[in-house]
Amino acid sequence: MDAVKRFDALVVGAGVGGLYALYRLREKLGLNVQVLEAGDGVGGTWYWNRYPGCRCDVESLEYSFSFDPELEQEWSWPERYGNQPEILQYVNHVADRFDLRRDIQFETRVAGATFDRKSNLWSLTTEAGEVFIAPICIMATGNLSVPRVPDFPGLDDFEGETYHTGLWPHEGVDFTGKHVAVIGTGSSGVQSIPIIAAQAETLTVFQRTANYILPAENGPQDPEVEARHKATYRERRKAAYDTPFGISGYPYPTKSALEATPEEREALYEETWAAGGQIGFLFAYTDILTNDESNKTVRDFVHEKIRGIVKDGHVAELLCPNDHPIGTKRLVLDTGYFETFNKQHVHLVNARKAPIEALTKTGLRTTEAEYSFDAIVFATGFDAMTGALKEIDVRTTEGRSLTEDWAAGPYTMLGIMCAGFPNMFMITGPGSPGVKSQMILSCEQHVDWIVDCLAHMRESGQAAIEPTEASQHDWTMHVKDVADTTLYPKAASWYMGANIPGKPRVFMPYVGGVNRYKAKCEEVAAKGYEGFTFTAAEGRELAMAGED
Ligand code: NAP
Repeated sequence: MDAVKRFDALVVGAGVGGLYALYRLREKLGLNVQVLEAGDGVGGTWYWNRYPGCRCDVESLEYSFSFDPELEQEWSWPERYGNQPEILQYVNHVADRFDLRRDIQFETRVAGATFDRKSNLWSLTTEAGEVFIAPICIMATGNLSVPRVPDFPGLDDFEGETYHTGLWPHEGVDFTGKHVAVIGTGSSGVQSIPIIAAQAETLTVFQRTANYILPAENGPQDPEVEARHKATYRERRKAAYDTPFGISGYPYPTKSALEATPEEREALYEETWAAGGQIGFLFAYTDILTNDESNKTVRDFVHEKIRGIVKDGHVAELLCPNDHPIGTKRLVLDTGYFETFNKQHVHLVNARKAPIEALTKTGLRTTEAEYSFDAIVFATGFDAMTGALKEIDVRTTEGRSLTEDWAAGPYTMLGIMCAGFPNMFMITGPGSPGVKSQMILSCEQHVDWIVDCLAHMRESGQAAIEPTEASQHDWTMHVKDVADTTLYPKAASWYMGANIPGKPRVFMPYVGGVNRYKAKCEEVAAKGYEGFTFTAAEGRELAMAGED
């Protein structure tokens, strides 16, 4: 086994959050940081998800780093929404521009993380048996980073090609002339289906639950829009933090959908549909996400749109979501998704009525029929929010295990720390608004808070910080209470853990809004990290690098 390697701080994951953590810890605190990354490149979600059509559903001028004004000005996004290759290119540019690669060890998957209270050190063990130690451990492991294939019987029997959207081959896949199945109609399925359909001989889509899918209205970046945005970037970034989703440019609505006349609503919804994007509908009225009757006005509008696009009436009805309020599952943005079902060689199978029973040698079997395919694409999602942390055996030498602590659902303080696990910070962990926000903004906000906290510890002679059990309990209950005031818990979503059999049904993200969350984080810090306890250094310094 290699010698133990010592650092000031360890960061797990070289996605957007991990890279920014490395940059800030180095630049603001001068720490010697080691990032450990499973992939052979930076980018996290944008490194792994290379499926055809993969594109961000937040506009690029918003979905980008804000920490460096020159970076903002020098980078140009060719389209309204960045596609995966462009975003990955951007993240690589950031890694090069700020000389981040020298502190990243690639192809290194962390298997275990143990904290020893006596030495005040985290010890991270990799799958290859390497050991890294540091007093600070930052988990930048992502929320949608553990791809999941349902446990279909016969998975290994199928002799054709299989792919998961979240683990797409780097060299791409050519479906020309092939009979292809796509299982799953979340964002990944919806984005890939039109592109796969354009190549494949036949495409059969297995849909268990219809999703609310809105037009992206993607297109080339309008140079005037870009120039205007860049001229006001600072104000926009600041304004974004004052919004629930961390995205600027959407004025907060002032009235309920039920206060508007049907004609007013129709006009606004038409305008919103034509403009494209997901925030417009959520922000059309004050109560779209809290009042089912208001929500239904949007649902009815979207159903009519689907019926207007899809020519086969039976297929159109199947594509109309009917089991959850709009917006309570992640809204999906599409380009040509519904139109794809007007093509003769594209078929939709109702996998709710006839569930997939098993994979076979030549394809798959539902409770009603057998199908043959050359390739099956699993667009079946992720073990979201808790999956990546539970894959690492996080524990303390005192015998506390994060997986055991989270057996009934995640417990965190602010989605940043867990009681009993000192100096382990999560970036956009469960209990934070991360997945319900512009992710890069949330990653920056979390990292800035963590780095300020570490600076405070250094100045005040503290070696360790952890939340109290009471504050963690209160925050976790608050996350639940806030969710209960909305329609979110009505959907069997991955926010609830509902996509994984046996996973506790707990609503995991904080949906009180980025604005309220950030204010709470600032209040906690201003009150001397209220709800957290510190352990005095007493000779154990936070900086460790260079010791034997
Ligand atoms: P997902 O939203 O969890 O969708 C998984 C799909 O697989 C669902 O349609 C699900 O049906 C289906 N499925 C699962 N097990 C099945 C089974 N046994 N039989 C039939 N169908 C089954 O996953 P995703 O599409 O990868 O998206 C996950 C999240 O990643 C998104 O919500 C979004 O936050 C993010 N994402 C974002 C973008 C973007 O920015 N544009 C793109 C891709 C992903 P049920 O609904 O019935 O469970």
